Amino acid sequence: MTHPDATMRALFLSAARRLEVRQVPVPQPRPGEALIRIRVCGICGSDLSVFKTGALAGPDTVLGHEIVAEVVDDPTGTWPAGARVVVFPPRGCGECYWCRRGEPRHCERHDGRGWGGFAEYTAVPARHLVAVPDTVGADAAALADPLGVALRAVRIAAPEPGALVYVNGLGTIGLCSVSALAAAGCVVMAGDPIEERRDAAGHIGATVTLDPTREDVYDLARERHPAGPRVAFECSGTPDGLQEIFDAGGPGATIGILGIPTMPVLLLRMTVREQRAFSIAGPTIESMTEALEHVGSHPELTRIVTGRVGFDEVADAMAALVGGRRGIKVLVDPVR
Ligand SMILES: [Zn+2]
Ligand SMILES: [Zn+2]
Repeated sequence: MTHPDATMRALFLSAARRLEVRQVPVPQPRPGEALIRIRVCGICGSDLSVFKTGALAGPDTVLGHEIVAEVVDDPTGTWPAGARVVVFPPRGCGECYWCRRGEPRHCERHDGRGWGGFAEYTAVPARHLVAVPDTVGADAAALADPLGVALRAVRIAAPEPGALVYVNGLGTIGLCSVSALAAAGCVVMAGDPIEERRDAAGHIGATVTLDPTREDVYDLARERHPAGPRVAFECSGTPDGLQEIFDAGGPGATIGILGIPTMPVLLLRMTVREQRAFSIAGPTIESMTEALEHVGSHPELTRIVTGRVGFDEVADAMAALVGGRRGIKVLVDPVR
């Protein structure tokens, strides 16, 4: 138990691009919740969108959902103190149709705020905790959420072993997708304008890396297979990326939209080539569990983690990530 008067440091988003560290009470777990001490919390692409636009900003907003933590106190009795865990991120009301189905990401009542991982402690439902194997370090465990997204996407796309596939945008989700597709036996082409990211993709399982702003992905793919990519994932979240992913996939291809699209797109190519598209918004507890196993046997994935910052450095790190200037996955470390 923490003392009821105990306080902690947390990083609040008060307005667009404005973060401030404040001393606040340590949260008291409500019924069903456990108190956890945060070891690291990854900066997600969705945190960057919120940081940039100020959406959800307010006096009580603490971002961060890619949480790696240690259980301090679990009044439900499920987790012993000291257990190493990651957190299944969606936060729901617990009562609506979707929450009762175990799919809180579709909660009808929730406002989109998360558990507040950019803090020293947080309280989350004990049933949202996923155990981290002893062999998996904190940096690798921080990939459970994005890698859980990638593994879920690969399961939905269900490529045949040996299939030629394309991943556009080699940030965290893109690189996790490269690893997941390579593990499924695919021949992976991976595209990004930034060399550091192409280089990481080459070490993580991509057979071909390319700069999609300089090369025609579909033409290049057809040198390897007359049908072009069977599966193509858009992970850049850029307006051009969304258009290009339909152009890159071959006839009958399955298109996964994993970046957050911000512009309309012409679907002519999708129709003519009879492609099908899907999108997903997050991992499941099962895919996060699978991700922790995957990262345990693919230590090269920790290449994705390019830095650790303390609360005071988060605004700078986020601005650099937004501008694509440096870094891939940066972790926030509360005691740094
Ligand atoms: Zn995330
Ligand atoms: Zn709900």
